[in-house]
Amino acid sequence: MAGADLLVDVRDLRVEYANGSRAVRGVRFQIRAGEVVGLLGESGCGKTSVALAVAGLLPRAARRSGTVALAGNAGRRAAVGFLFQEAARVFHPFLSLGRQMREAARVAAPEGGAGRAVEAALEAVGLPAREFAGAFPHQLSGGQLQRAQLAQVLVGEPAVIVADEPTAALDRAAEDQVLDLIEGTRGKAGVLLISHEPEMLRRRAGRVMVMYGGKVVERGTAEQVLDAPRHPYTQALMACGKAGKTGGRIAEIPGQPPDPREEERGCSFATRCAKRMAVCEEREPAAVDEANEVSCWAHGE
Ligand code: SF4
Repeated sequence: MAGADLLVDVRDLRVEYANGSRAVRGVRFQIRAGEVVGLLGESGCGKTSVALAVAGLLPRAARRSGTVALAGNAGRRAAVGFLFQEAARVFHPFLSLGRQMREAARVAAPEGGAGRAVEAALEAVGLPAREFAGAFPHQLSGGQLQRAQLAQVLVGEPAVIVADEPTAALDRAAEDQVLDLIEGTRGKAGVLLISHEPEMLRRRAGRVMVMYGGKVVERGTAEQVLDAPRHPYTQALMACGKAGKTGGRIAEIPGQPPDPREEERGCSFATRCAKRMAVCEEREPAAVDEANEVSCWAHGE
């Protein structure tokens, strides 16, 4: 991969499931060391499939094409650590945290250092090892369990952390703690932070990509994308967020997302877009790439 700090280089990623659902339709992006890259979109837009593809966790029956090039495979350094939304499903309920984490630690520290690595990881996320290494998952709060999951990820020394809605089940205080800890790893790792909440990405991500219908439709710095969105879908998402913040009914974008099993024609957002033109229903706008940060006919080819 070009560039010493380039950790992830995804090109023309496509994911199709056995039911014919084409969840990802040609996505490309890069993540560099120290970056937090946000991936924003409604549920069903394909962002979790992107996350699973980057982490190599797609189900066997899924077909993936394109390339996902990762740095950090050499030596004992694991390439990707995955932080799931529901930490409770990650841990075995009848084994102590320390025992489960030592299994993960043996990959990164196989020469008898697993115990020390687990202690260090637990301390790093604010869970004193003397208190928590012997604890069982049900003895922890939701926020503590998510921090324990992060410790389990860190103990593998990943070059990249993929965090898929990591705080969706937490209250705001616990969310901030977990996100602070994820952010704290930036010097060493790159982070792909996936969320349906623009405000969370505004606070945490340096760059943001917006996904719709299996594609990235807009990308840029967090300020560019979230403060001055150009794609009508991003504008609609931000308008929904504002409606919620002002205390009114949480708005939804009218209409339904496209069926991922159907062949697409034209712009995938056309049926919901107030700005659509004749060309939008006939021809697909140019993809987001090096030369183009918005995929929309209203912003040129
Ligand atoms: S290409 Fe047309 S339909 Fe699609 S988002 Fe842009 S203006 Fe709307």
